[in-house]
Amino acid sequence: MSAPHELTVAQLGAELQAKRVSAVELAEHFLSRIDQHADLGAFLATDRAATLAQARAADARRAAGGAPLLTGVPLAHKDIFVTRDFPTTAGSRILAGYRSPFDATVVRRLAEGGMVCLGKLSCDEFAMGSANENCAFGPVKNPWDVSRVPGGSSGGSAAAVAAGLVPAATGTDTGGSIRQPASFCGLTGIKPTYGRASRYGMIAFASSLDQAGPMARTAEDCALLLSAMCGPDPDRDATSLDEPAEDFTRTLNDGLDGLRIGLPKEFFAGGLAADVRAAIDAALAELQKLGAQLVEISLPRTELAIPVYYVIAPAEASSNLSRFDGVKFGLRAPQYADLEDMYKKTRSQGFGDEVQRRIMTGTYVLSHGYYDAYYLQAQKIRRMIAGDFQQAFTQCDVIAGPVAPSVAWHLGAHGADPLADYLADIYTLPASLAGLPGMSVPAGFGEGGMPVGLQLIGNYLQEGRLLNVAHRLQQATDFHLRRPEGFL
Ligand code: GLN
Repeated sequence: MSAPHELTVAQLGAELQAKRVSAVELAEHFLSRIDQHADLGAFLATDRAATLAQARAADARRAAGGAPLLTGVPLAHKDIFVTRDFPTTAGSRILAGYRSPFDATVVRRLAEGGMVCLGKLSCDEFAMGSANENCAFGPVKNPWDVSRVPGGSSGGSAAAVAAGLVPAATGTDTGGSIRQPASFCGLTGIKPTYGRASRYGMIAFASSLDQAGPMARTAEDCALLLSAMCGPDPDRDATSLDEPAEDFTRTLNDGLDGLRIGLPKEFFAGGLAADVRAAIDAALAELQKLGAQLVEISLPRTELAIPVYYVIAPAEASSNLSRFDGVKFGLRAPQYADLEDMYKKTRSQGFGDEVQRRIMTGTYVLSHGYYDAYYLQAQKIRRMIAGDFQQAFTQCDVIAGPVAPSVAWHLGAHGADPLADYLADIYTLPASLAGLPGMSVPAGFGEGGMPVGLQLIGNYLQEGRLLNVAHRLQQATDFHLRRPEGFL
C-alpha cells in the first residue's frame, strides 16, 4: 500500500475494506503529518483523544460488518461548522474558546457515514475573505508556494488537503469560498445547489447564499462526500430542499458526447490573466476531445455581481452577526460601564477589521433612506442575474470558465485594499447569487507553477452532471494527481 496521504478517499476506503490498514492507523498517520506541517497554519484545533476515539469506533463498526465505504476515512471540517468534539471559532476572536453543545448537520451526516474527524481548519473570520488573511489566528500558507495565499475563505481546508494533511475536507461557499481556494491549491471542490446541504450548525454569514460542500483531490472523492452530506433537514433548516440524498458516484462515468458547454464571453474578457486563460483553453480542448461541444453564451450582468453581492452579503451578515453581543456566546470585554458600552467594547475587541467593515456596510444599506437605493436594487439585479443563467441554459448544458482572474497571489499583496479581494471574486459570485451549483477542477498550472482551476456551473440540482464532466476530465489529465514539492 502507498503512504496513506498519497491515496484518495475512495482508495483509503478500499484499503480499510481490505483490512490492509485500520482507522486508528490512518488517524495516527495524518495526525503526525499535521504536527509536522504545523507551519502552514492550516489547522486551528486538533484533539488526539477525540480523534482516536472516533477511529476506534470506526474500526469496531467495520469489524461488525456492513459499514459504509467511508467508515474510518479521515476528514477535517472548516472551523465554521459547529462540533461537539472540537472547539469552534469561525476564525474569530469573538468565539475563542467556544464549544458547541451539538454537531452541525453536515458534521453529523459525515460522522454517521463513518468518517473520522482530525480537527478544525482555519478560515477567514466568519468566512469573509478571499485569501484566508482575515483569520484572527494568523494566515495560512499555500503548500505550492508558501509565500502565497491558499485562497479563501476555506483556505485552511484547501491547504490541508493539498499538503496531504487530510484526504478531504468540508468547506463553505457564500461567494466562491470552496471554488476559489480549490483552484488556488490544485484541488477539486464543489458547492452544491443552494439548499442541498443543511445550514444547521454552519455559522451564518449570508444565509441566502451560504452552502456547504466538499474539497478533495478528485471528483470521485467529492461525489462520495457530497452524497453523504446532502439531503433534506426540514426540522432544522427551513431552506433545505426537499430532495432526497443522491448517490453522485452513479453518473461519474457517463459519456460527454454532444454535451454543450457554454462559455460566457464576459468570463474571458479583459482582466483574465493570460496564464489562467491558457490553462482553461487547454482543459476545454480536452473536453472537446471527449465529445463536448463549445458554444459561446453571454451572462451580461457578470460585472454587476460584485456590487450586488457586496450589498446583499454584508446586509445579511450585519443581521446574522448581531447575536455576538457578549451575552450569548464567547468573548465578553473584561471592563465596561453599562450594557451598551459592553456591546460596543465586546464587538470592537472581538471582531476583526473586515467583519466590522461588513457590519457597517450592511447596516448602512439596510437603513431607512438607503434600503430602496441599495438593498432593494441589489435584490432586483440578483433576480435578473438568475434569469440570465436560465436564458444561458437554453443554449448549453453546463457553463465553463475560470474560477479566478489569476493564480494565488502573494501573502500581503492586497495589503489594506479590501476592494482588490472583492474584485477577484468576479467569476464565482454570479452562480452564488443565482443559487446554482458550481465547482473547481484542476486545469493545469500558470505563473510560478501555481495551480489553475476550471470552473463548471450547472443548472439547479445538476451536481451529478458537473461531477461527471470533472471526472471524465480527470481520467484524461493528471493535474489533480500532482503534489506540491516538500509535501510528498
Ligand atoms: N470572497 C467572498 C467574500 O469575502 C466570498 C467568501 C465566501 O464564499 N465565504 O465574501
